[in-house]
Order: sequence, then C-alpha cells, then structure tokens
Amino acid sequence: MNTISIDENRLSDISRFAETHERDIVRDIARLVRIPSVEGPAEPDAPFGIESKRALDCALQIAAELGLGTVNCENKIAYASVGEDRGQGYLATITHVDVVPAGDGWSEDPFTLREREGFLIGRGVMDDKGPSVLCLYALKYLKDSGIPLRYPVRALLGSNEETGMGDLEHYIANYPAPLFCFSPDADFPLIHGEKGIYHGRLISRHTPINVLEMTGGVAPNAVPAKASALVRAETLHSTDAVSAEPAEPGLWRLSAVGISGHASMPEGTVNAIGRIVDYVLENNIPAAEELPYFRFLQKLHAATDGSGLGLQSADDCFTPLTAVGGKISTEDGVFTQTIDCRYGISTSGERITALLREAAGDAAEILVDADNVPFYLTLDNPAIQACIESYNLITGENARPFTIGGGTYARHFPNAAAFGPEHPERPAPDFAGPIHGIDEAARLSDFIEALKIYIVALLRLEELDF
Ligand SMILES: [Zn+2]
Repeated sequence: MNTISIDENRLSDISRFAETHERDIVRDIARLVRIPSVEGPAEPDAPFGIESKRALDCALQIAAELGLGTVNCENKIAYASVGEDRGQGYLATITHVDVVPAGDGWSEDPFTLREREGFLIGRGVMDDKGPSVLCLYALKYLKDSGIPLRYPVRALLGSNEETGMGDLEHYIANYPAPLFCFSPDADFPLIHGEKGIYHGRLISRHTPINVLEMTGGVAPNAVPAKASALVRAETLHSTDAVSAEPAEPGLWRLSAVGISGHASMPEGTVNAIGRIVDYVLENNIPAAEELPYFRFLQKLHAATDGSGLGLQSADDCFTPLTAVGGKISTEDGVFTQTIDCRYGISTSGERITALLREAAGDAAEILVDADNVPFYLTLDNPAIQACIESYNLITGENARPFTIGGGTYARHFPNAAAFGPEHPERPAPDFAGPIHGIDEAARLSDFIEALKIYIVALLRLEELDF
C-alpha cells in the first residue's frame, strides 16, 4: 500500500492550493447559485425538473474543467472522479446541487451570488452548492498532486436531496456503495450517528360529542406553533395559554399559540396542541366516551421525552429519546394526531408501537408510517478517526464527533458520516442568514479551511484498509 505522509510540506502544499484557488471557488459557486434548482415537474432526461438537471450539468461541467472524470447517472445523480478504478472499491463524498425555494424577504436576488464582509450570500451557498464545489476542488488536489491513489475517489452530486432523496435511492439501487463516504451537508466537526426516526399516527375511535374538531401544526416533524378546536360548552373563559371565543350558540372556538421548533430538538418549544388538550380536560369538556382519547393525547404532549407514554429511553450513544405530536387534523369526525419519535439504540420502533398501543388501549388505533433505524459508527472506527483527526489537525481544536436526532445523506450508506462544513458555534453577523432561510450565507474563510480538512481527510482515508 502507499503511505501518504501528511508532513509539514504536504500541509503547506494543501494550504497553498486551497488559498490560491479561493477566487476560482467563488466563481464556480456563483455559477451553481445562478441556477434556481428547486424540484420541478419531471421531463424527459430531467426526472427532478429542468433546473435540477441544469445544476447537475453545471457541476459536471465544473468537474470537467478541473480535469476530473465525470459520470451522469441517468440525470438523477452524477459524480466526478479521480484515480483508477480496478474494482478495489472507492471512497466518496456526497453533496447536492438542488435547493429549497428562495422564499420572500431576501435583501437582493437570491440567485445572484453576493459577497459581503467575507461572507458569500445566495440560495444554496451553504446547503449544499458551496460544499459541492469544495469537494470538486478536493478531488482536483488529489489529481494535481500526482499522489498514487489506492482507492479512486468519487464526488457524488445529488439533485433531489431536499425533496425525497430519489437521487440517492437510484444510486444505492444501481451502483456499488462506497467503502466510506462523507457528506459535507451538516455541521462540523463530525456526525457519527443519527437517531432512529419513527413516524406514526394516533387515530381516534370514538364518535365526537363535545370536542368536534381539532386542528394544529404544519408538519409531523415540527412542534406546532398554532392549534385550534371547536367544542360544545355552556361558558368558557380564556386563559393565558388558550383563548376561548363563542362560535355559535353552544359552540366555542379555542385557539392556542405555542413555540415552534424542529421535532428532533424540542427543548424550549411549547406544543400548541398540548395546550388545547390540557384546556379541554381541565374544563371537563369531553364526554365520558371521548375522555380516553384526550387523556391519551395529554400523555403524548405532557413531555417531549416520551415519559407520559412510557417511551423514554437513553443510551451512551445518543441524547435521550424525543417524542413530538406535530400535527392534528379532523376528518369525518375522526381525529388524527401524528407522532414523531427520535430514538437511540436501547429501544426500537416495534417497542415504541407496542408501548403506544398499550397506552392507547381502545381509545386509538396506532398506524406506523415510517421507521428508520438508528445509524451509528463507533468512535474507534478508523474512518471516523481519520476524519476527526483531519479536522483537529487543520483547526487546532480538540473536537469530538457527535450524534444528532436528524437524518442526513450519511444514514443511507453502510459506512458514512456527515462532515461539516457549518460552524454553528462561530458567531456570524445578522446579515448572514441560515440554510433554508433568507440571505443564506457562508463564511468564505471557513470554506477554504473546510477544503483543507477534506483534502487531508481523503488522504488519510486512502491509507486505511477497508
Ligand atoms: Zn442539504
């Protein structure tokens, strides 16, 4: 095998490469940002719409200009490559060139890259067009350096990450998986595990008598900021948490406001549906036949750690289980409450379903919509060590990998991790917006640093036995 020593000379060569290509990198990110690659209707040779396809073509064009090999996988996903493929397996990075819609409120055109005080601003600069360009330049370094590569490296470029992951599904089904893959589409330093993600529905079985309608939330994976109900009652009074307005004789409209947040990180949120459920029970609104369902809902909304339903669980790999009732709706007198659970390795989707059925008794039917098992690589995994050591070498930090409750591209591969390039811990000015938000921004110096990290990590990964 080759031994690629990462000595001082190598490091300064990598630094020089990253710094001398800074303006080329900005130019190439601007080319991708210019394409509003939001998913559109499928067209011939453009399964995720014409703009996503244009972004894929543009990324391959950049790769070709950098002297990399290019392969288009049926216009769903594509990759740039370096090194000779002799069937020995390959390493990969994976990013995506599709974006979420710009939304209103941008200071200037979201699809024209702007620079301000060391930041790049435009839709997709951070998620995930900037990182896509960084991966292409990392491969260019490998190529230009002339280092013999034990494993070829592919920079995979998805075009449907934001809306369904049809890009990756296609790749996994039709191409061999990489030996190891890292995904620059998340936070630094390194994410070595992602919780299991469970989505279910709790469907009422009773006939409504006094609680006629419940509505709230926008998505199963978000804590709802608003909820309302239509109930039958003589007199009701508003409280700090719930306002009660007469609707028509004998009927009241209840509404509540909560504090929204992502279901994977519910700390500090307040569930508006839970406020309505508490109010309804405190005011003895449900008839006897309705009580079991509302008591069941109250247990769900009582605590975001699932303890009201006996779901709580914790282990050494992940933060404790979370359980969030994100959305409730009423159709033909049937209430449907969603549940989103993020769980670690000491429970399972089957166990969550069993506990929900036990807690529900006859009050609700439990349907499971999705159950993605937790994804976890141990800290002593050599690829995990190669990545985190590269990060610490370049930044001078002593950071440790961490786990999250969300899902990234990484969980779809047998051996993968999400690896930067966001630094939520580094303060940013007010004009620099978040991913998916207005004025999405990325610090250019962080990108140049990230490029060095990715090059060092790929060189270290080249040295491993897989
Ligand atoms: Zn992304």
